[in-house]
Amino acid sequence: MRSQNLAPRLVKLTTRTNIEVRRSLPHRDIRTIGAWCFIDAYGPTSDIAAMSVAAHPHAGLQTVTWLFAGEVEHRDSLGSVQVIHPGELNIMSAGSGIAHSELSSDVGADLHGVQLWTVLPENNRNMKPRFDHYARLPHFALAELHIRLFVGELAGRKAESLTFTPLVGAEITYSLGIHQSLELNPEFEYGVLVIEGEVTIAGQVVPQGNLLYLNPGNRELVIESSDSGRLLLLGGEPFNEEIIMWWNFIARSQEEIEELREKWNNHSPDFPDFPDHIGGRIPAPNLPNIRLTPRGGRR
Ligand code: MN
Repeated sequence: MRSQNLAPRLVKLTTRTNIEVRRSLPHRDIRTIGAWCFIDAYGPTSDIAAMSVAAHPHAGLQTVTWLFAGEVEHRDSLGSVQVIHPGELNIMSAGSGIAHSELSSDVGADLHGVQLWTVLPENNRNMKPRFDHYARLPHFALAELHIRLFVGELAGRKAESLTFTPLVGAEITYSLGIHQSLELNPEFEYGVLVIEGEVTIAGQVVPQGNLLYLNPGNRELVIESSDSGRLLLLGGEPFNEEIIMWWNFIARSQEEIEELREKWNNHSPDFPDFPDHIGGRIPAPNLPNIRLTPRGGRR
């Protein structure tokens, strides 16, 4: 089992409180896992305003929101207003362009979750933007593992959430020590993000916060832990298109990125304003002086 044990970077987000998140993807060594291209984990925090993010745009990707605790209200330029709770899923397929804001709210619980993105493939990246919420998703036990499947297929179950490349995403929890195997798709590469506890996978100790990357070719995942824990399993067919990720956009060329940036900063009707309780919008930063170069297509 070829693997890489990756520590996250700490990044301050542009939110009300400039919350520090743990960013696992993109990583210098691992750009994508399947089409998963962005993994931020945050909390648990009692600062319930921590994920209040003013209006900002996306294009060429899907945002995938998954909570372990707390509550966040999503609003977007299509007019969607949706509160998300733990066990539910928000997927915003940005396609040609959309703007959204997120407001975390006080439900008397800590705020704890992940913000993920998938890259949209060439055939879908200019799709009309859409927003989907899923309140009912597969939730099942596999011996001592409790699995909440939010994307794709796992252990014979299937989530109906909208994605555009072969992917899987699941939250795995256990309340005591375990030694258990889970069937994998050998066509997929995987990442196991340790949310709580410490876990041993294929003989490697993965500390809390780390992401263990697994190459394609594995048929099973053996999870060992001496205590309770929580993992996020993400996987997919290796994504081989070259992409440029800059700020909140994914494109294929510098010119596309420049155009998206101009449109957002100049209030183009492609990114309509919408009402929310946060107010304001986050301007796109300046582009770097060097040319952005496509990455990917490496495997
Ligand atoms: Mn966003």
